[in-house]
Amino acid sequence: MHEKVLNLLETGKVDIFLGYKMMAGHPLPHAFGRHNPVEVQEMILGPARYPLEKLAVEILAARPDLKIGILARDCNRRALNVLTVHQQVAPGQVQVLEVSCCPSPLQRHADCSSLEAKEFGAGKKEIGIDNNLTPDRLEAMEPTERFSRWMYEFQKCLKCYGCRDICPVCFCRECSLEHEDLIGTGDLPPEVPIFHLVRAVHMAGRCIDCGLCEDACPVDIPLRLLYRKVNELVADLFDYKTGLSLEQPPFSLLFDKTAQPAAAPHGA
Ligand code: SF4
Ligand code: SF4
Repeated sequence: MHEKVLNLLETGKVDIFLGYKMMAGHPLPHAFGRHNPVEVQEMILGPARYPLEKLAVEILAARPDLKIGILARDCNRRALNVLTVHQQVAPGQVQVLEVSCCPSPLQRHADCSSLEAKEFGAGKKEIGIDNNLTPDRLEAMEPTERFSRWMYEFQKCLKCYGCRDICPVCFCRECSLEHEDLIGTGDLPPEVPIFHLVRAVHMAGRCIDCGLCEDACPVDIPLRLLYRKVNELVADLFDYKTGLSLEQPPFSLLFDKTAQPAAAPHGA
């Protein structure tokens, strides 16, 4: 891996490479450059997961002249596909070095160690939702019980925006979750369930099932399960699987299968 990164840098295929480095005892995202080849040896593989492609898009917004490489798990690659078809980055502007570790149904590989089954306490088992459920198993619940359990989960929300901020495919400059006509301000918890439903609707055809939102949520709301259900509906109703290729058009709730993928970066 180190040799490949050095090769990309030294041959000028990329100007910087986004990977991970231990800093202050934590594996954190880091930009490696050809000016410091020794430092490339400090790049680590491991369980750390950040939306490196989102960082690449942010860097490119300020420095569109750069060529960027990223260490990419399956989820990074799917997110990069979504960002590309939504014109946040031009095709080929970000190069990937692949790492295989994905447990998602959207996977091409299946040996992830990052998202293992979670353990819960009695309270969550009694009145909340087990984050390990599949949408099918959740739907097998009686509707009023399912509703009550979701409301319990949503009412824990601190409106910290961590789920949005970590999400690799949340790229809108103006966010509906901060629009005062949709979301009330100044109160906690946020209006339930509107805050979560607004986000769920916006994840339709965009969420690539990376689970970062759920990992970031300080109160353990099963967000990934919620968006999985949304995207099952998208797949069933529109025959659209998110992030699987650069050739698919961006999904829209007014979906038109004849729409073409976009070419220019940073359009929205
Ligand atoms: S799982 Fe969460 S963080 Fe990942 S793409 Fe979907 S909404 Fe965004
Ligand atoms: S990360 Fe969790 S607590 Fe924070 S806004 Fe999202 S759902 Fe609410």
